[in-house]
Amino acid sequence: MVEVDLHLHTTYSDGTLTPRELVQSCADHGLKVIAISDHDSTEGLAEAVEAGGELGVKVISAIELSTDVPRSEIHMLGYFINPDDAQFQTVLSTFREGRRNRARNMVKKLNTIGVAITWTDVIQIAGEAAVGRPHIAQAIVDKGYVKHKKEAFDRYLGRNGVAYVERPRLKPSDAIRLLVDNGAAPVMAHPLYYEQDYSKLRSTISDLKEAGMVGIEVEYGEFSSPDRKLLASIADEFKLLHCGGSDYHASGNPGEAPLGSAGPTLETVAKLESMTKHKHVSSTQD
Ligand code: AMP
Ligand code: ZN
Ligand code: FE
Ligand code: FE
Repeated sequence: MVEVDLHLHTTYSDGTLTPRELVQSCADHGLKVIAISDHDSTEGLAEAVEAGGELGVKVISAIELSTDVPRSEIHMLGYFINPDDAQFQTVLSTFREGRRNRARNMVKKLNTIGVAITWTDVIQIAGEAAVGRPHIAQAIVDKGYVKHKKEAFDRYLGRNGVAYVERPRLKPSDAIRLLVDNGAAPVMAHPLYYEQDYSKLRSTISDLKEAGMVGIEVEYGEFSSPDRKLLASIADEFKLLHCGGSDYHASGNPGEAPLGSAGPTLETVAKLESMTKHKHVSSTQD
């Protein structure tokens, strides 16, 4: 177990714990510094920061944006974001609208192939969250079509699934620009999810470093130790910070990396913070 976990999701995106429940669990696991990185939403941050203040956990305001590349996507994390940036919030709300439209179209596709879930099922599960495929997956599980959400992805919702629908996304360099303009530090999430060809991955990372990215996830919950060594050498080659976290969603999927299973050093957190404009961190320990 580690002291720092910089990749966590709450009920404001596709996690199943509320911000307060998640921060409580982090405190119980002995975590000292965490980042809440919901997809396209900052709505959970205030509650998490408040809970962190009470429980002695330093909470960094973060976000995870999905960006578009040919035949794939790259997730860009932003650390020390300023949630009070109106322009930034306008962009996030257009992404959330795109998520709703996409989810409606996915429900329609599912219905045509005999998977009888409704839009109401999905929004009841999503509640206040930015709607994501995991909410649709939960509706499919609840109706008994599959046992785990992961199976719903394999059969229906994954990029090669029969009910997959695209949604509007930024290019990675534009997401980096959006984050830098906000004053945040952009970091590539789970770099080994996108590209089997490591020389292509290295060239993408090199381009994104040029665009303003400051780190990549090296210590990532689902990555093996040889994978982490490979990513550490790529990070060193391009002078990028070794970031990371568990990407915990409390998803219920078998084999999900537990909370606090991976994360960077406190020294890396300090470097990350020194690269940001706003110093948006809240805690009892400041
Ligand atoms: P969305 O943001 O709607 O595109 O959904 C992407 C999210 O779905 C990811 O952040 C993961 O939380 C989850 N996810 C993606 N692929 C899978 C998979 N194969 N099995 C389970 N969850 C997945
Ligand atoms: Zn997610
Ligand atoms: Fe991700
Ligand atoms: Fe994530």
